[in-house]
Amino acid sequence: MYQVRRVHIGKTVQLDELARECGRLYSQVVVSFWRTVRHKGIWLGPKHLMRWYTSEKLHAHTADACVQAFFASLKSWRERKKAGDPDAHPPRHRKWYFRIEYKRSAMVLKDGKLRLSNGRGNAPLILNWPWELPKTVVIHWTGTEYEAIATYQQEQPVAQPQGEKVAGIDLGEVHMAVSHDGEQTHILNGRLLRSKVQYRNKLQAQLNSRIDGRMKKGSRRRKKLIASKKRQLGKIKHQIKDIEHKQTTRLITTLYEQGVQTVVIGDVRDIRQNNDIGPTNNQKIHQWSHGSVRFKLSYKAERLRMQVALQDEHYTSRSCPHCGYVRSKVKGRVFRCPKCYWSYHRDGVGAVNIRQKYLGQFPVVGAMAPPTGIRFYPHTRVAREQSRENVCVGNYTEAAGL
Ligand SMILES: [Zn+2]
Repeated sequence: MYQVRRVHIGKTVQLDELARECGRLYSQVVVSFWRTVRHKGIWLGPKHLMRWYTSEKLHAHTADACVQAFFASLKSWRERKKAGDPDAHPPRHRKWYFRIEYKRSAMVLKDGKLRLSNGRGNAPLILNWPWELPKTVVIHWTGTEYEAIATYQQEQPVAQPQGEKVAGIDLGEVHMAVSHDGEQTHILNGRLLRSKVQYRNKLQAQLNSRIDGRMKKGSRRRKKLIASKKRQLGKIKHQIKDIEHKQTTRLITTLYEQGVQTVVIGDVRDIRQNNDIGPTNNQKIHQWSHGSVRFKLSYKAERLRMQVALQDEHYTSRSCPHCGYVRSKVKGRVFRCPKCYWSYHRDGVGAVNIRQKYLGQFPVVGAMAPPTGIRFYPHTRVAREQSRENVCVGNYTEAAGL
């Protein structure tokens, strides 16, 4: 389990030079790797290239990290290609500047200063560091200044579980996530996230048409607009990430407080590859961020020592949790069983069924509380020390129309 600390460290000539040197090394790896593929048909591994490409200006392990970074993106390209992603491209571009990575072997912490070695005979990089010694430090350019990202291995578990409950979580497009723990149903509202995604699509399309339409290739105006597009889309990307973090933290904290020990997340991974449901809905499904929401929910739950399990969620949103009848289609926001007349908020049904399927008691009978919605609070703290009183669970009754 890792935790991360981000520190802004400004811009200095030394940082520029180091980043430039990492870029040079990375570019050498890119060029020589693909050259060997082209001429000899051989795909070299990291151990060959790490021996060939070293630098006089960097710590040996920092130089290794540049080589490893190339192979990491090669690996991620292979995985994405395998998953059928049409946007997957292998790492082919050379880079002027590249991130500088320091491993534990290159660090000394003394008197609140972190001394990062750049190899014998070179000036070390020194950062003010009133915290403990990290495991790795990665320095990258944010667009305005350098940022150091320090990772820590978390040795002590933060918390002990408070109960034995099992909660099912259903990830969705309308609602980011819905949970059911046997008694309570919580709904994470996805409206704000959805509006951000829609705005991003619109903005992207507008800017693309301006860039591709009238402007001359290579013109200054075009370059300016491309830079502006990158900036604007980057901002929205951060906002989306922020919402996901705040919402998932809130849900997991709420579940933890209610004594949940096991979190069962509905597995929707098949959905992307197999379904073709028209261009508009396809876009929706492809941009549905269940991957990142699931990831965030999982690691946040694990941080609180909860267990995380995945459960196949076929038919879970269409089956009646009371009698097991599978409906062909669910219309409206309320699930009503035509056989036994059991009814419940539609989005809660998936979570109820995922939980029951995991527990092996499908179908089930029982009285359930109406769902409570978890509203988006812009000032949620996502850090590790979340104070207990901060968790507010609003009443969902009004919004759900129940
Ligand atoms: Zn029924």
